[in-house]
Amino acid sequence: MKKIYLDHAATTPVAKEVLETMKPYFSEKFGNASTLYSIGKEAKEALNRSRKTIARIINARANEIIFTSGGTESDNLAIKGIAFANKDKGNHIITSKIEHKAIINTCKWLEKQGFKVTYVSVDKNGLINPEDIERAITNKTIIVSIMQANNEIGTIQNLAEIGKICRKHKIYFHTDAVQSFCKIPINVKSMYIDILSASSHKIYGPKGVGMLYINRKVNIDPLLHGGNHEYGMRSGTENIAGIVGFAKAAEIISQNMKKEGERQIKLRDKLITEVNKIKDAHFNGHPTQRLPNNINFWFKGVEGEALLFRLDGKNICASTQSACSSYELKPSHVLTAIGLAAEQSHGSLRFTLGKDNKEQDIDYVIEVLPKIIKSLRRISPFK
Ligand SMILES: *Cc1c(COP(=O)(O)O)cnc(C)c1O
Repeated sequence: MKKIYLDHAATTPVAKEVLETMKPYFSEKFGNASTLYSIGKEAKEALNRSRKTIARIINARANEIIFTSGGTESDNLAIKGIAFANKDKGNHIITSKIEHKAIINTCKWLEKQGFKVTYVSVDKNGLINPEDIERAITNKTIIVSIMQANNEIGTIQNLAEIGKICRKHKIYFHTDAVQSFCKIPINVKSMYIDILSASSHKIYGPKGVGMLYINRKVNIDPLLHGGNHEYGMRSGTENIAGIVGFAKAAEIISQNMKKEGERQIKLRDKLITEVNKIKDAHFNGHPTQRLPNNINFWFKGVEGEALLFRLDGKNICASTQSACSSYELKPSHVLTAIGLAAEQSHGSLRFTLGKDNKEQDIDYVIEVLPKIIKSLRRISPFK
């Protein structure tokens, strides 16, 4: 039986067209973009085209986009780069309790280097109150970093409101848009975003490629020094094949964003409605202000990992907490922040839809999930 993949927040398969677009850049178009003969220029042109494609999607200029090795590097560069470059202005960073580990652990490391970090709370749906951001601002604050949408529970933040506050106080505003890029609209101008992270492998592009939008007015230091590639912000010979693939993926996915979003919302809401009928099933995240592809629940008296194995036995790929921390036994920091106790958090389950999921896939989940939960509860030690 074919696998029903419902873990698109963890990663996605490379789309066929994306792979085809990339192929020549491994072989005949192998040039180094910094060289002057024709195959080098070809690489340079591909790089510039990719920059334009990505810039257009977020309403930025091409020369404000730099390519990185992924979302984690982009997040590190944004936070550390600004922290290091603006030490004379202050040492205070504001972020939230539900950011990705690429932000949280970067901030924790900066705390050891003498920076101060405020981790703003969220409500039970995972929403940040923009007023809490404003209250946290001091005359030492240099950057606010808030994700557009959460990777575990799908909650979408009011970025424009937060951005407006940052602009008013002349503080840099960074957003980790890795999970939302090309899924919901984002506009760096109307949302007052100075820096933005995105990643290729969450949108049907290759792994190991990402980007950082940096508004030209931002004062930021690079983390990698060398041949001054990427406007001096990220030295190292560019991964042209990966970058071309990332841009192609972004182009395809963003073109179909509205229609695909509406299609996924129908499937999402059908699954949510049905899962809600299971006894002691509790919905996580915001009911409406959420990613079109995210479904998250916790089940009383059920162990998430056991649930995953049973689902896998039925060829369904899902997730408990986030894939990045599934080797840790600590409860998810996101579920803790929305008020779940450790044992509730351990019974959590996330489905994230993708472009190839059909209604039959959802119907199949609706058929097998209640039976698995019932059977697990019969043997549960938590009863
Ligand atoms: C996946 C993810 C990242 C990390 O991106 P990588 O490209 O895997 O390094 C960062 N932030 C969020 C919100 C993510 O979902």
